[in-house]
Amino acid sequence: MGSTLTEDQRLQVEELLKAGESDLGIQRRTGVARSTVARYRKTLGLPGYRTTPDSPACRHGHAFPQNLGRNDKGHLICVACRRAHWRQAAARSYVPAQPDEVAVDRAAAGDPPERLTPRERQAAIVRLDRWDLSAAVIAERVRCTPRTVHRRRAAA
Ligand SMILES: [Zn+2]
Repeated sequence: MGSTLTEDQRLQVEELLKAGESDLGIQRRTGVARSTVARYRKTLGLPGYRTTPDSPACRHGHAFPQNLGRNDKGHLICVACRRAHWRQAAARSYVPAQPDEVAVDRAAAGDPPERLTPRERQAAIVRLDRWDLSAAVIAERVRCTPRTVHRRRAAA
């Protein structure tokens, strides 16, 4: 099996290998077969992309064995990297909770629902505050303590 890589391809593959790219990632970026990339990795003496128990650290520098774990397929993985990945995914899909407008309307009208979230209660207090009502009256309507109303006013 003679290597048919051009000099440019070979340099590109070596550069990506040294940068810590996976064999599959290099195949996708350069079109060079994964098996060929693996052969170059071996020639360069670089460790495999997959983590082994005797690696001193993951390729992002998290120390082993403290961060060594297994995924549900049984493959060795870096738990610090997995945590970072989950955190990123959670940050991407985060949507702040929106107050239920109907609940706020009801609370402002003096008929608060059974359960009012703190956010909804605050919104109702802010709305009633615009009508210059006393803290005691607002507290009565929203069904909270006057102290909550005072605290809301102090925070505004
Ligand atoms: Zn890691």
